[in-house]
Amino acid sequence: MELANPCYLIQHPQGKLLWDAGLNDKLVNTPGGVEVMDGAFKMSVKKTLASQLKAINVTSDEISFLAFSHLHKDHTGNAARFSNATWLLQQTEYDFGHSEHAAHSGYNLRDYLHAKGNQTIKLQGDHDVFGDGMVMIISTPGHTAGHQSLLVKLPQTGPVLLSGDLYHFRANREQYGIPVWNDKKSTIHSFTKIDRLLDQTRAQLWIHHDKDQFDALKKAPHFYN
Ligand SMILES: [Zn+2]
Repeated sequence: MELANPCYLIQHPQGKLLWDAGLNDKLVNTPGGVEVMDGAFKMSVKKTLASQLKAINVTSDEISFLAFSHLHKDHTGNAARFSNATWLLQQTEYDFGHSEHAAHSGYNLRDYLHAKGNQTIKLQGDHDVFGDGMVMIISTPGHTAGHQSLLVKLPQTGPVLLSGDLYHFRANREQYGIPVWNDKKSTIHSFTKIDRLLDQTRAQLWIHHDKDQFDALKKAPHFYN
């Protein structure tokens, strides 16, 4: 099964926010990809994040906020590249990511420990990034302790919910499937919270790793407004 692994750049009049930092751009030098978790996954990069930002004339210094759905290594690969960015993380994700359990739970501490120079805002739940309700971090624990989703209200496209790894595929959502490594109780709670939010806002749901959905979406340098 093939999975997608996107990053999203959100441009707001008050600043740029990058949502997730993908796989490390260096993987582009290994065209066949590298095996991880005893060969369970093979990770590869065809198009670097750096080249895509360059194509739209955005420098890494211009990114004012870097927010992660969670700190698993497929979401933090290029985290250290954005030296001016303030990180937006749930306190619970920060704490787990810096605990002794992180290294053998899918976290690559090298991606974020040396980015300590960045200011980090540790969140305790939902958070309105720019204070105008247009870009909202929604706390959705379950996949990890401090997993979060992002609700973006676009002027023409309308609201879009980026659900990180709350679901892995559309089928996963339809069947309310819960991956074995998730915390079951908080996942069910987050599923309910997102169902309500989607009902209220009529937002599109973009599932991070769903390759069929990813293939159908516009990619940089194209954009949604
Ligand atoms: Zn993931």
